[in-house]
Amino acid sequence: MAKLGRELRAKGLDIVDLSLGEPDFDTPEHIKEAAKKAIDENWSHYTPVSGYLDLREAVCHKFSRDNNLLYKPENIVVSTGAKQSLANVILSLVDTGDEVIIPTPFWVTYAALVQMANGTVKLIKTELEQGYKITPEQLEAAITPKTKLFIFSSPCNPSGAVYSKKELAGLAEVFNRHPQIIIISDEIYEYINYRGKHFSIAEDENLKERVVIINGLSKGFAMTGWRLGYFAAPVEIARACDKLQGQFTSGTNAITQRAAITALTSPLDATYKMVEEFTRRKSRVMELMQGLEGFQFAEPDGAFYAFPKVDFYFGKTDGKETISSADDLNMYLLNKGHVSTVTGSAFGDDHCIRLSFANSMQNIEKGFERIGEALAKLN
Ligand code: PLP
Repeated sequence: MAKLGRELRAKGLDIVDLSLGEPDFDTPEHIKEAAKKAIDENWSHYTPVSGYLDLREAVCHKFSRDNNLLYKPENIVVSTGAKQSLANVILSLVDTGDEVIIPTPFWVTYAALVQMANGTVKLIKTELEQGYKITPEQLEAAITPKTKLFIFSSPCNPSGAVYSKKELAGLAEVFNRHPQIIIISDEIYEYINYRGKHFSIAEDENLKERVVIINGLSKGFAMTGWRLGYFAAPVEIARACDKLQGQFTSGTNAITQRAAITALTSPLDATYKMVEEFTRRKSRVMELMQGLEGFQFAEPDGAFYAFPKVDFYFGKTDGKETISSADDLNMYLLNKGHVSTVTGSAFGDDHCIRLSFANSMQNIEKGFERIGEALAKLN
């Protein structure tokens, strides 16, 4: 969508971008200053594959401060984005024929990486009515002797669903009956949480040794282009990933790593300010969506996306084009409304579209006005 949007813009069209998957804020000043200092201090050499020791200590500090979880630096691997962290863990753990359970809707990379590892993706479908969260019964029913991994994000991209402590405990109870399963908990939207405290499934005492927590700087610190992700895992998984990463990329960018120490050990004021603005926009987006006929949705508890169900429009036409899927609606909104969104089929749910509020209030309002006008033409 970003590419299509750029092409249309190059033709002189004014496209409102509600497809963005990154904060529209600048990286906080104190983190930029730390990077500038690192350049001047000549942090220009290869780094240890899993990241500088003092950075991995800073990651441990973060886990202890924010999640009440105690890790040692040997549990931590720092990578070129959380995407590489996921790639490391999935490619290290999944062998041909292993089953990997992923609840829908999900971030597309999970399934793609499992396929790259010759694993078998087993999707658990969730619905709007259950807040796009799986139940312990659904989880139990999906597990087989071949299940190797379970992957989920909370807060979730794209649904914005956040599992409560109680809901995580319900899933943990099931995992406790199946000790062969490793859980990948993607917590990259941890700080962008509208219901207060974030809970990690690794906080369950019996599970910590089987959970890999994925996190990174991209979303909470507005640092997508800096490329730094990290994970906490049992030592043997961390060691395997160190080997793999050592052949793919080695350690991530030295300057980014030095800046990351500042990001992870400083007060989170800039992050909270960003979340305040996302909260304001979320409320406005909810109002605007209520004004759109046929949109069914839940209020997101985290991340910066709305994920309305739009199948009300399936079968409708503007006289020229007929909408028969979320893909069609997504293209119709781009071509006729000049608003870019992301089709739910990209996340394993072809009845929804994803609307990002990582854009200014002015653009959000303009985008929704255009969406309303374009939808009104469908009968
Ligand atoms: N996990 C989720 C759920 C995401 O949405 C994203 C980015 O969109 C990532 C991981 C990857 O983040 P990074 O920029 O650190 O690679």
